[in-house]
Amino acid sequence: MSYISTRGMAPELTFEEAMLTGLARDGGLYVPAEIPTLSAEDIAALNGLSYEETAFRIMKPFIGDTFDDDTFRAIIARAYDGFDHAARAPLKQLDGNHFLLELFHGPTLAFKDFAMQLIGQMFQVSLARAGERVTIVGATSGDTGSAAIEAFRGLDNVDVFILFPHGRVSEVQRRQMTTPDDANVHALAVDGDFDDCQALVKAMFNDFDFRDRVRLAGVNSINWARVLAQVVYYFSSAVSLGAPQRKVSFTVPTGNFGDIFAGYIAKRMGLPIDRLVVATNQNDILHRCLSGQGYHKGPTVPSISPSMDIQVSSNFERALFDAYGRDGRAVAQLMDELKQGGFEVSQGALQMLQDTFASGRASEEETRATIRATLGSAQELLCPHSAVAVKVANEERDPAVPMITLATAHPAKFPDAVEAASGVFPPLPPRMADLYERSERVTRIANDLRAVESFITEQIAN
Ligand SMILES: *Cc1c(COP(=O)(O)O)cnc(C)c1O
Repeated sequence: MSYISTRGMAPELTFEEAMLTGLARDGGLYVPAEIPTLSAEDIAALNGLSYEETAFRIMKPFIGDTFDDDTFRAIIARAYDGFDHAARAPLKQLDGNHFLLELFHGPTLAFKDFAMQLIGQMFQVSLARAGERVTIVGATSGDTGSAAIEAFRGLDNVDVFILFPHGRVSEVQRRQMTTPDDANVHALAVDGDFDDCQALVKAMFNDFDFRDRVRLAGVNSINWARVLAQVVYYFSSAVSLGAPQRKVSFTVPTGNFGDIFAGYIAKRMGLPIDRLVVATNQNDILHRCLSGQGYHKGPTVPSISPSMDIQVSSNFERALFDAYGRDGRAVAQLMDELKQGGFEVSQGALQMLQDTFASGRASEEETRATIRATLGSAQELLCPHSAVAVKVANEERDPAVPMITLATAHPAKFPDAVEAASGVFPPLPPRMADLYERSERVTRIANDLRAVESFITEQIAN
């Protein structure tokens, strides 16, 4: 299995190389040269398997011979060992035909643990056998950073630097990044917003001298291995509701388009998905684009679902690549236009996107109302991101088809917003109960590439 860049100008890589690299050298994102498919029998055979065995079967065709079967099974087992639910990704019924896929039972209480814990274990095996060391940098609007720190803390051959927008993440998110005291993890509070953090990370990857000197590796949602890890729960949940005999739909709270893109891959692999619904908050650039209004950046408006406060949705480039018939030059052109503020989507590409994705948005008031209503109707306390998705799912549902809405974070990660909406304060799970007492370690830094690069260079020299 080889991997190609969405901009068509970077070398083809193996799975392992693409995983260790993250962003392609032409600025593009790696995607598999072909998408492997599963037959209906293969899918039916997943019924009753553990989450780990399902993960092995879904991901195996994508990793080729990167790891032998025993090693890969052991990697998967270690990755999900720290989850506190035996099913890993349990389904909960909200009403007759609407289900919540709970993706928040991992160590940092958000779905990003599914990918990050796996990547941590894969990096460890890869780097240890090659005798190498890498520097991981990531930008986070909140949940990626804590998931990365949790996945890589204490590992011998990795230093981790996480950039987050100062003052724009929740206290729980910040504390999850600033309280681990392992010497190899560094939380950087940038004077800027999430898009600034993401731009800094992209700029470091495009500074080839720096990139090679510190052996930069990326684990942001652009990393193909992360998308791959997320494909698994689309299969496990659909199969438990009767796939492949029965179709299901999914609604996904979306920011960087990684999670929903994993659903698209599941569909391309042969999972019978009826509707794939993109749910955005008031930062609705994706919804506007999928509604035919072009892709035009506006200001990022802080919301109660901060992990979706995004104007540049990096994984959307992968969807555009397919929508433009895998024409890397066309994608590179669009991304150049985006630097000037935005682009129009061609008629053919828009058709493909609209055939594949439905979309909707939720305002702040609608999000709060959904938290209240769902607590009343199903005794389920939603985090604001999940509430955005439940609101959109209710609008986009076909009553004849089961709808699975992805619940991407535990409500206790956003306690103030949840309490303001519902009157109920969501407590942290017992294993994290002392989070508010632990001491914090963080470096405040200017939104400036040179400042960030010098800091990283100094730290890894120590
Ligand atoms: C990251 C995140 C999202 C958005 O996921 P993308 O893959 O970036 O679209 C939604 N909800 C929560 C809680 C998140 O942490």
